[in-house]
Amino acid sequence: MDETSFADWSKRAAEWGAAYRSSLRERPVRAKTAPGEIAAQIANAPPERGESMEAIFADFERIIVPGMTHWQHPRFFAYFPANAAPVSVIAEYLVTAMAAQCMLWQTSPAATELETKVLDWLRQAIGLPEGFAGVIQDSASSSTLSAVLVMRERALAWKGNKAGLCANPRLRVYSSDQVHTSIDRAIWVSGIGEDNLVRIPVKGEKRSMDCAALEAAIIRDKEAGYVPAGVIACTGGTSTGACDDIAEVVRVAHAHGLYVHVDAAWAGAAMICEEFRSLWAGVDQADSVVFNPHKWLGAQFDCSAHFVRSPDDLVRTLAIKPEYLKTHGRDGIINYSEWTVPLGRRFRALKLWFLLRFHGLEGLKAMIRNHVAWAQKLAERLRRQDDFEIVIDPVLSLFSFRHLGAGDLDAHNLALIDAINDDGRIYLTQTRVDGRIAIRFQAGQFDMAEEDADTAFEVITEIAKSLDRVA
Ligand SMILES: *Cc1c(COP(=O)(O)O)cnc(C)c1O
Repeated sequence: MDETSFADWSKRAAEWGAAYRSSLRERPVRAKTAPGEIAAQIANAPPERGESMEAIFADFERIIVPGMTHWQHPRFFAYFPANAAPVSVIAEYLVTAMAAQCMLWQTSPAATELETKVLDWLRQAIGLPEGFAGVIQDSASSSTLSAVLVMRERALAWKGNKAGLCANPRLRVYSSDQVHTSIDRAIWVSGIGEDNLVRIPVKGEKRSMDCAALEAAIIRDKEAGYVPAGVIACTGGTSTGACDDIAEVVRVAHAHGLYVHVDAAWAGAAMICEEFRSLWAGVDQADSVVFNPHKWLGAQFDCSAHFVRSPDDLVRTLAIKPEYLKTHGRDGIINYSEWTVPLGRRFRALKLWFLLRFHGLEGLKAMIRNHVAWAQKLAERLRRQDDFEIVIDPVLSLFSFRHLGAGDLDAHNLALIDAINDDGRIYLTQTRVDGRIAIRFQAGQFDMAEEDADTAFEVITEIAKSLDRVA
């Protein structure tokens, strides 16, 4: 592609992106397509001859876009948000154009130095004390995996990487049953094994780990010859927003020499608002904390912020330093690839820098406070309806509810959620609470306005009524 067409098509792509964003309210949030419908429109073999950009772009609009679920839609209330504020998209255009591999300081000094700075901005923004150092990972799953690997190596006196696990005593890691599935996978991948992830029962409205049970389990395991390695606590669990009592978890864990990792992938963004920090009181004592600026905060996916109290432990666990990667004679510089499992790294700090500068903490705090207020107001409106119940009260901007329709409530609520998502004006997902289906609602899309919560109320109550009439 020559320079002129590169410039022309880049402009066209940018213009398409802007028009797309402004058209979102008119589109159904969830893709209206049946399995296989998109694949059926794609050639079975690669073209021998190059094709024109006109043809490629036309097919993008014709085939691909209708098969997309619109995560930047202001009425996306499913899962958790994956916000990409326009300013972070612009930063990504620039990063994509430069396309640097930022694995070592010397492979792009600006990427490394900016990463150090903006992660320290984030550390201050969420109220973590000095002494925590941050690194950008691709996902909370990878951040948690790194933390679990550190737990493993610490507990095995740094011999696990070399000797493997079969040469070593069995490790134990503890968490509640409210943690994300990425914790299970980190336990599998690290070789610790699911049988050694001890699930501690939860108690109370916040569904927090019972710390007396945690301590009893650690003591029991030690007596039985296991080596307890660490605890994974959560602030804002995915299903219902469960929050462990971090201060108490840390107290128990540290008394027994265990490493503590806190998964706040979603809720961490809200900690830029001082009034929400009581949800993770005690986090300043944790060893490792992850939160995803690519969720609520607005930094285009992927961007997971992993903070650790001891980067040395992380580097000791993950750095290999083959000869060809050594940055001779430059001691004191950071090679972030030694802090993560993958070697190659994209330049992810630029979008954070653009985002934080453009919106300022003030702008981002206002957005988060609005989302929390609107979700709470919607929960109250639904609570006042005779035929709805709030299953889990709002934790920040997440709550779950159930429609008290006719017949089997699980089947009825699954049918309701399907009907709502087929309607297309809003998008919701479900979860199970104590074994029974509940509908989740989270407010968090970057461009959401208060009217969008009103629309959610109208759609939910209108479709619930229409289902009742059919039944
Ligand atoms: C979303 C989420 C994750 C997984 O995040 P990825 O970045 O997709 O790996 C982990 N934990 C919690 C609590 C989450 O909400």
